Amino acid sequence: MIDCTLLQNTAQQFGISLDTHALSCMDAYAEALVQTNAHINLTAITDPTDMLYKHFLDSLTVFSVCNPAQNAAWLDVGTGAGFPGAVLLAARPDLKMTFLDGTKKKLQFIADTLQTLDLTGNFVHARAEEAGQNELYREQFDFVSARAVANLRDLTEYCLPFVRIGGTFIAMKSVKTDEELHEAEHAIHMLGGKTDGVKTLSLPNGDVRTLISIKKISQTPTKYPRPSAKIAKQPLR
Ligand code: SAM
Repeated sequence: MIDCTLLQNTAQQFGISLDTHALSCMDAYAEALVQTNAHINLTAITDPTDMLYKHFLDSLTVFSVCNPAQNAAWLDVGTGAGFPGAVLLAARPDLKMTFLDGTKKKLQFIADTLQTLDLTGNFVHARAEEAGQNELYREQFDFVSARAVANLRDLTEYCLPFVRIGGTFIAMKSVKTDEELHEAEHAIHMLGGKTDGVKTLSLPNGDVRTLISIKKISQTPTKYPRPSAKIAKQPLR
């Protein structure tokens, strides 16, 4: 389905090595995505080359800004059809990957597909702002990722409560983010975070991406995350 040699070579340009098992898992995942997408709306991107760059390589770029320890606990918030979480898990099957989304059918797709690939994940069907108040998930993760879920200020309120102190939240953005980051700085500070790095990169197809790493340096005050209506009405500024 996808050109595995091209994926391997382009990932290598970002310093990411993929073995043949990881590549075959990604290829099978792409196949399942297209097949399931015929009857359940999971993605607008189904052309094999577009999928390679915009789903698989884009997801993998996260590993160009972090190097998780063996068995690190990872949460992918608003994972949708599993991006970046499923791709990261295929590349690093040792990760304890949890997929969170408010839409059950997408989580079901990921669960069914991972099972066929002998990969193991945990699944949380919930709104992030509700799960972030649940002690089962709060401050339990070494890494939290989110791609295409919300603006950085709101996203930080969704995601940082899940990160344990010393851990990292990585926000994946498709545009230059100076203004968004500026608007989010106060929220990042209030929620116990510190901006640790901003990396802008170009994918081989010309798409520009920005990865924002936010380190958790102190506990998130218990009143956060607030209910979604409150986040929308009174953004942290
Ligand atoms: N991360 C995936 C990707 O990049 O392909 C999916 C992106 S999709 C545009 C946004 C996803 O975030 C949807 O699956 C939606 O259900 C989920 N989502 C949005 N807000 C959420 C929230 N507050 N809690 C949980 N899931 C949320």
